[in-house]
Amino acid sequence: MIQTCARCSCSGRSAYAFRKATPETRAAWLASGVRRIEARGLCQPCYRVERMAGTLDRWERRNRSQEEIVEEWSHLADPLLPIRQECRRLAAQLHMDWRALEQAVFRAGIRSRFTDFANDVKAAA
Ligand SMILES: [Zn+2]
Repeated sequence: MIQTCARCSCSGRSAYAFRKATPETRAAWLASGVRRIEARGLCQPCYRVERMAGTLDRWERRNRSQEEIVEEWSHLADPLLPIRQECRRLAAQLHMDWRALEQAVFRAGIRSRFTDFANDVKAAA
């Protein structure tokens, strides 16, 4: 997907798209002036300038934080089903790659939904 830099309005593609593209595609993009959209909606040169100037905070983050994602996932996931299965099922709904979602869930320290659920049941009893 073509994106536009929020600062200089040049057109670019996401860092993810660049990573996934073949070297030939990447070279063709760069040759035709397509820049890499680094983060916060800024192309690579703009991102560098803002970072060096210490003014990155002026540009809003485009991603939800890991906590927000995991919180939303916990809310939607069925506690009795395996984590991986629930990540696969809910990934599209959360606009994420299921592996990235699973990683975020594991990073948040959620290892077994069932144990958490069982503990909740025990605590409630
Ligand atoms: Zn730019």
